Amino acid sequence: MLNKPQKAIPLFDCKTTQEVIGQQKFLDAFKTILDHGGYCQGPETRELDTALANYAGSKYCATNGSGTDALTLTLMAWGIGAGDAVFVSSFTFVASAECVTINGATPIFIDSDPNTFNMDVKDLERAIAEVKAEGKLTPKVIIPVDIFGSPCDYDEIMNIAKKYNLKVLADSCQSFGSVYKGKRAGSIADATATSFYPTKPLGGYGDGGAAFTNSEEDNELIKSCRVHGMSPQDHYDNIRIGMTGRMNSFQAAVLLQKLTVFDDELVKRAKVASRYDNELDSYFGKQKILDNCKSAYALYTITCEDRDELMSYLKERGIPCGAYYPRPVNTQTAYAKWNTRSLPVCEKLSKTVLSIPMTPYLDDEQLDYVIGCMNEFATNKKNKAA
Ligand SMILES: *Cc1c(COP(=O)(O)O)cnc(C)c1O
Repeated sequence: MLNKPQKAIPLFDCKTTQEVIGQQKFLDAFKTILDHGGYCQGPETRELDTALANYAGSKYCATNGSGTDALTLTLMAWGIGAGDAVFVSSFTFVASAECVTINGATPIFIDSDPNTFNMDVKDLERAIAEVKAEGKLTPKVIIPVDIFGSPCDYDEIMNIAKKYNLKVLADSCQSFGSVYKGKRAGSIADATATSFYPTKPLGGYGDGGAAFTNSEEDNELIKSCRVHGMSPQDHYDNIRIGMTGRMNSFQAAVLLQKLTVFDDELVKRAKVASRYDNELDSYFGKQKILDNCKSAYALYTITCEDRDELMSYLKERGIPCGAYYPRPVNTQTAYAKWNTRSLPVCEKLSKTVLSIPMTPYLDDEQLDYVIGCMNEFATNKKNKAA
């Protein structure tokens, strides 16, 4: 067995940033909120709206209580509901599809590309044709998911959307900070949702999310829906159905601090990924990042035919890892009635993917060890097969 590094290896690291920024900065910001008393959607959230819109290169940003809120509120603002078909990746976290069902619309699950693990655009077109031929639902929205932080093929997806007159809501909950051909996540699709759950690339210390758009009208609708459909003129008149989807000021204060080191952390994540890309044995499949694109590396995910065995092998050696996602959304109990299409790539991925430690602060000793153990596993397998 290889020598274990002194420092434990985390799968995610939400804490080190506090030392990098200095914990006092957070405490000072919290004290300001305790003093001014605007706890829900206070001045910090408005400052964050602007900072995030500027960062993403989007005209508008509305902060929300979570990534799920951002997805749900955007569909609500677009008036998506019963009788509407929404095309969504199945190889994702459940919230990508939940925002559809919660609004009463029908999710149509799309298969994955075996290389990028993102929405397969050929299968997307096939699904649109199927829904049109059946004639029961109206195709309305495509929800591509930037899985593990890697941007989808937006040129292709936006072309398909244009051809069939659909809107695109990018689920960039894992990919804030990613770049698609010079454009940052948040500025590419008709609207984009992101999440600031602690383990996401820009993670808060609690739940948070944001919805981005270049449309002033959509932004106003999202902002109204996140406070129960309130009229901007008369706060006691709710002019549409909404929900509670606000961000609290404490979370906004955390994120304003974390934004100051975010670019540096993205560079550090990319360095970790580049070591894995270059040094991991070719026995493992690697997620393809599209040309001229940058992943935000929410996770670094490989594929391996003996995934479960590799997972035990790594855990025995003190290396945390996780299978994201072991069940595609279409196969989950609550989604059984929408499990209408065969998604072979998605099914295969759910049995072979493994996410390995990815944090900006992994040092060389830790990375040497992770890579060493992975490659040892690969060598043993190849020797046995020979
Ligand atoms: C995390 C995540 C969400 C939901 O975000 P929350 O902030 O946890 O509500 C949605 N979609 C994807 C792909 C995610 O990874």
